Amino acid sequence: MAARLHGLGTTIFAEMSALAVSTSSINLGQGFPDTDGPTTMLEEAVAAIRSGEHNQYPPGPGIAPLRQAIADHQKRFYGLEFDPDTEVLVTAGATEAIAAALLALVEPGDEVVALEPYYDSYVAGIAMAGGRRVPVTLRPPDFRLDIDALRAAITSRTKLLLINSPHNPTGTVLTRDELAAIAELACERDLLVVTDEVYEHLTYDGVPHIPLATFPGMRERTVTVSSAGKTFAVTGWKIGWVCATPELVTAVRTAKQFLTYVSGGPFQPAVAHALRLGDDYYASLRDSLQRKRDLLCDGLRSLGLEVFVPKGTYFVTTDVRPLGYDDGTEFARMLPERCRVVAIPHEVFYDDKKAGRPLVRWAFCKRDEVLVEAVERLRSGL
Ligand code: PMP
Ligand code: GLN
Repeated sequence: MAARLHGLGTTIFAEMSALAVSTSSINLGQGFPDTDGPTTMLEEAVAAIRSGEHNQYPPGPGIAPLRQAIADHQKRFYGLEFDPDTEVLVTAGATEAIAAALLALVEPGDEVVALEPYYDSYVAGIAMAGGRRVPVTLRPPDFRLDIDALRAAITSRTKLLLINSPHNPTGTVLTRDELAAIAELACERDLLVVTDEVYEHLTYDGVPHIPLATFPGMRERTVTVSSAGKTFAVTGWKIGWVCATPELVTAVRTAKQFLTYVSGGPFQPAVAHALRLGDDYYASLRDSLQRKRDLLCDGLRSLGLEVFVPKGTYFVTTDVRPLGYDDGTEFARMLPERCRVVAIPHEVFYDDKKAGRPLVRWAFCKRDEVLVEAVERLRSGL
């Protein structure tokens, strides 16, 4: 195996989902919903297959109606204008968008500053691009961004900031002030920014998601990444996208066309349909997940865990030390056997292993009865 892949191993999500199956556990590890997305969207996909018009290669940048729908969605929710022909690219999920962006923009030896804990594909994407990752750690209890730490992490070799808000795994949603500070630094140091906004519609308690591209000076230096997986509960469809200037989109497309070329033919018109759903769809998604967040947070708290209530995503982080464990990885590894519940240890998302060691992440994008049953299993087994 090439040196650049050393240490990447098997993703924690594949490992823990396999463990969930082999132990018949409730899987609160890998983040995927256990109910389907909007019915009309599913029917669009079926109709697209039946029509015989979407079963061959779609155009390289994605079908025009989907690119138009992505541009319209950016305008509708954030007032951002993107030309669907030159500034939007459809990708095989956000994962490919991030990997292609890093391959397209990072030279070997360049430094990429990213928020730690990192979503695991960032580590792999930076490594495959030959870059060097530089962490800025978000710490409990509130996992806020330390702007001084961000400033200190930027050197003359920094090429790019890799930002993620709402943030997986902590559930932090960066505030207007934090985002403004990131934007100022990016402009002052002339950095590119890749911003992963896949949880853009999953924010709670009235906290808004504000895209980085809306800040002064950012539209021309930002690659915005999102995906249908979370917003429409179709993580298996792998329809993602990139919005950026024509120059940046061309760079990302150059890498993307030799990774997958294209993907998801019949899903593309279905996602175009879904992006145009009314405000009631987006509001009910948010309300339903906020309620599930509260259900699981209350349950985990009642077991004695320290719970860090997230403002976004569909994950909640806990500290296991109040239960007498000091290692979240050991805790997460014994959980399936002991309780038949799977969760994800934070430690795998850190360079600073010590910072992540006591923390465990739980997904709440599950039916209420599944969340209740999971808490009951934990109560009997712990
Ligand atoms: N970014 C983050 C922060 C994620 O949590 C995920 C997980 N799904 C992805 C990217 C990948 O998205 P996709 O499934 O669309 O590739
Ligand atoms: N984004 C999902 C999570 O954080 C997992 C995606 C994956 O398995 N790669 O749980």
